[in-house]
Amino acid sequence: MSKAIVFKFGGASVKDADSIKNLFNILFKRLRNPMVLVVSAIGKTTNALEEILQAKFNNDAYSLKCSILRSHHMTICESLFPRDHDVFLRLDSLFDSLEGQLKNELSSLNYDEYYDQVIVYGELASSLILQAYIEYRQVSSIWIDARKVIKTNSDFRFAKVSWNHTQDKVNEVLLPWIQEKLVVTQGFIGSDESGKSTTLGREGSDFSAAIIASCLDADSVTIWKDVAGVLNADPKKFKNTRKFEELDYHEAAELTYYGASVIHPKTIKPLANKHIPLYVKSFVKPEASGTKIHKVNEPNTVPCIVMKENQVLVTFKVTDFTFINESHIHSVYEKLEFLKLKVNLLQVSGISISIVIDDDIFKLDRLLDSLSDRFQIKYNKNLFLITIKNPNQKMIKRMVRDKVVMLEQITRYSFQVAYKLSTN
Ligand code: ASP
Ligand code: MG
Repeated sequence: MSKAIVFKFGGASVKDADSIKNLFNILFKRLRNPMVLVVSAIGKTTNALEEILQAKFNNDAYSLKCSILRSHHMTICESLFPRDHDVFLRLDSLFDSLEGQLKNELSSLNYDEYYDQVIVYGELASSLILQAYIEYRQVSSIWIDARKVIKTNSDFRFAKVSWNHTQDKVNEVLLPWIQEKLVVTQGFIGSDESGKSTTLGREGSDFSAAIIASCLDADSVTIWKDVAGVLNADPKKFKNTRKFEELDYHEAAELTYYGASVIHPKTIKPLANKHIPLYVKSFVKPEASGTKIHKVNEPNTVPCIVMKENQVLVTFKVTDFTFINESHIHSVYEKLEFLKLKVNLLQVSGISISIVIDDDIFKLDRLLDSLSDRFQIKYNKNLFLITIKNPNQKMIKRMVRDKVVMLEQITRYSFQVAYKLSTN
């Protein structure tokens, strides 16, 4: 049996009817057997669902937002299918059940679990449309519910994969089909032991593709994006960017760790472990080479810049005339781990620990509450964090120009600065 290939299409590649047609053309030219397609929610849908949840949480009206989302999906279908196609009924009943879900009570206590039960509808809807369209264009395919395949623990919103269980489910649910049909499934979503929906963290569809590829021992994974490949900086934020033809697994993983949003951070490891190459290619220019991530022997020396927005700098200062020791660091890290907060920058001085983290709903408050008896805590919100790998002095100077630097750190491999924009 030949090895499978896995294609992952993100939200931008299914954002409207023309994009879905373009996706189909890319796929049609590259059809292979066996093949799995992993698709994210239609562009902006996950954000729209988050807004619906937020409105519900605040006891504001949300039904108009639901109707807009439903009709957005319907309008896309109107340009893809004849009026009497059953996709319309299927989509309608999917949105009915989303609205049913939203009738349940939501509070800050069940927020994460509730979030996952609602947010999965984005991927369910996009994959339903895509598979129906592929079938309509006469390619034999099957829609598979990723929640029957990707098994996780119950850490809602940030679920951890149960690898053995997932491997069994891939064998049981996916393998019997992949010889016969193109498999279309969802990224980002899974389910826990009791069958409740879970998600793998925002932008987690890349990771889903890697999980499936790893369990299938696939030949390759291709992530189709609206950029040319992996670049040394985000072209929307920086000028004169360079695209990598190839990149080592380690380098790619490190860039994603610092926040390069081109690939989800967890994607690389399962692929590297099985030596499965990852291609990042443009769905706008599908014939162009893109970037191949695999084992590369030469280290990369090109400076790479990653910028993260919406950061919080939190400083924990000891109050009892002692100096920072391992137990202080341990207590901060224990809480961060508990709250699933990742530290983007850490700096320790004699009397304080400073961290830069993403500003995540509720979590900052919980962090402050749980450590306020041990430390005097100060924080600054709305910061930016820039990381430069392989920096040079000129770049460092340019990066901090006209900015209010809050924290800065230089190591032999990298430079990091947390700053706010100067107000004058
Ligand atoms: N739809 C999800 C998100 O927007 C997952 C993904 O796009 O990978 O975060
Ligand atoms: Mg996405």
